[in-house]
Amino acid sequence: MRDAIETVNVKQTDAVKVYQPGSQHVVGDGFHVRNLFPSNDLDRELSPFIMLDYAGPTFYPATDTPRGVGEHPHRGFETVTIVYQGRVAHRDSAGNSGVIGPGDVQWMTAASGIVHEELHEKDWAKRGGTLQAIQLWVNLPKASKMSAPGYQTIVNEQIPEVQLDRGAGSLRVIAGSVRGAKGPAKTFTPIELYDLRLRAGHSTPLQIPTGYNVGLFLLSGRASVQGSHRVSEAELAVFTSTGQPVTVTAEEDATILVMAGEGIDEPVARYGPFVMNTKAELIQAVNDYQAGKMGHLS
Ligand code: MN
Repeated sequence: MRDAIETVNVKQTDAVKVYQPGSQHVVGDGFHVRNLFPSNDLDRELSPFIMLDYAGPTFYPATDTPRGVGEHPHRGFETVTIVYQGRVAHRDSAGNSGVIGPGDVQWMTAASGIVHEELHEKDWAKRGGTLQAIQLWVNLPKASKMSAPGYQTIVNEQIPEVQLDRGAGSLRVIAGSVRGAKGPAKTFTPIELYDLRLRAGHSTPLQIPTGYNVGLFLLSGRASVQGSHRVSEAELAVFTSTGQPVTVTAEEDATILVMAGEGIDEPVARYGPFVMNTKAELIQAVNDYQAGKMGHLS
């Protein structure tokens, strides 16, 4: 029995893979992003997470015309925007709008279809400043892809913060739960999403449910996973949880986005802003968008 457990641990350590950004581009004219996936071909390994763009940190000079990305559609998944620096404004065809700043999260469920714009917030853009944000796409299971669109603004104050042992740092629970602290985000499939801040020279164990796909994205600092897998700025460590605690150690003060979830074992068909199960459904999505069925911004 003991041998079996040790074997599992060794396997897990060896299975940690570290990725650098696979591509970079500008979304609209306001988000200079480095993409971690799908550019690294991680569709399967990180399901239900299907896209991660890391925006910035980038300095944008003052302007009266806010930069960003204008009206565009989505169908079949959720977009999660996490702001670390700067302010982002959102408006969609379902009538939702909002502004998120440092520590805030916007969780938009595109599902059957939505049209939205994502811009630098007007007053922030007028002053100019540094933007640092993540956009994460979370896939929906087939049964929920055509459900009604939704929108959750989760402000900093709503996100519980757990203090780690021995002054190692803190962990904010956006979704899922840690030591009884429950994240406010409502999700369609089981997901854990944490904003982890680790102090230099400190470690913390991460306890993720067995079988979950796990990604640790390092926004700043330097860290290691299980003592041996080094992760630097804008790198992503990926593994599957065996249920055993995984040790994360900060070599420099580190800010890490921890994403973990139960994989969705269904075919993935994607075309730009649409993520469905089949090619026929993608063609339908394009047709529905062009026919105005996903609505427009008023
Ligand atoms: Mn969008």
